[in-house]
Amino acid sequence: MTTPCIVCGWTNCACDTDGLDVGPYVPQHWPPPWIGRRAAHSSEGQASPRVCRRWCGLVQAMRDICCLAGDSLQAKAAGGPVLAAETGGTLMRRVIRVFPRKTTASPTDGLARFDLPTLWEHPADEVRVSVAFDCDKARAEQMAAEWRHVGPVTVGGPAYDDPGGEFEPGMYLAHGYTITSRGCPNHCRRCMVPKREGPLRLLQIRDGWNVLDNNLLSCPKNHRQRVYAMLRRQPRRARLTGGLEAARLTQWDIGHLVALQPAILWFAYDEPRELEAVTAAAMLLQGAGLMRNNTCGCYVLIGWDTDTMAAADDRCTAVAKLGFFPQAMLLDRGIHTRDPKAWRAFARTWANKVIVGAKCAQLRDGVGT
Ligand code: SF4
Repeated sequence: MTTPCIVCGWTNCACDTDGLDVGPYVPQHWPPPWIGRRAAHSSEGQASPRVCRRWCGLVQAMRDICCLAGDSLQAKAAGGPVLAAETGGTLMRRVIRVFPRKTTASPTDGLARFDLPTLWEHPADEVRVSVAFDCDKARAEQMAAEWRHVGPVTVGGPAYDDPGGEFEPGMYLAHGYTITSRGCPNHCRRCMVPKREGPLRLLQIRDGWNVLDNNLLSCPKNHRQRVYAMLRRQPRRARLTGGLEAARLTQWDIGHLVALQPAILWFAYDEPRELEAVTAAAMLLQGAGLMRNNTCGCYVLIGWDTDTMAAADDRCTAVAKLGFFPQAMLLDRGIHTRDPKAWRAFARTWANKVIVGAKCAQLRDGVGT
């Protein structure tokens, strides 16, 4: 019986008029991910994989050499060991993370992927497809189907209501980002966080200068103190970008923030009734000299069913007048409004940094309304 080639899967390969041959080259991995299922199934039960004598054998050898060399570089870039030779004989698991969308927060190591697998992809122990946004689910599922040829696939992330566990630096977010708590003690009616992550949970504090906690200021004082201490030893100025709850900002926190001199602080203004708390926070920040050069931003939630563009514009203008740099956050891409397209266009006028910067400059110069 003729053994099919593991590269092309044919018993009579076009690249070898003599038919198949047991080449001297034995591939590193069987079955390799790039061969079709037909070849894998048709060779089941064979004692050893075979390749065509001419082109397929050469291609196969080049692929394995490239994969092994690539892994070595990837392991170094990721800080995650892959090859036994590099780890004193301990073979570590090779976990590829796949993201349907690349953002500034995406990991940058050699095992992060943002597309379908290439022919050169080395087999993995595990492939994790991580999805942050609902609108990326369809693409994520398509990617998951393709990545199954590389290793066992799991699909998860915030879009799939994953409550999240301990934070692993560099795994799903780029180096520098950190999360020290999950969940939230509040129950804001339009927010998914309490439903997805439950009540506030404190995590191990891992190093990073960009803190993404949902509600850092709701954490106990000793936890916040340890977070501020961690931020002080970072090589870059702190960035608190998760959205701070204005009502929980205290003079004690201001003292730590003055010591830190953060590069940016983002507050959240989700409900119209929170304006008083946002105003009080602005007073504290201004009094401490922290509100300068657009270092304090404010996410402004807009676009729920009873919201209007005029009211949303007023809220964004109000926080800009307080000295914050507003950033409109359109709820669920405007699906609760009557005209999502018009709301998306409106939201851009309060989300584009250049436009918002110009509006803020006008308001501060007293030219605006
Ligand atoms: S909007 Fe903010 S404060 Fe409200 S529940 Fe969500 S995370 Fe908590």
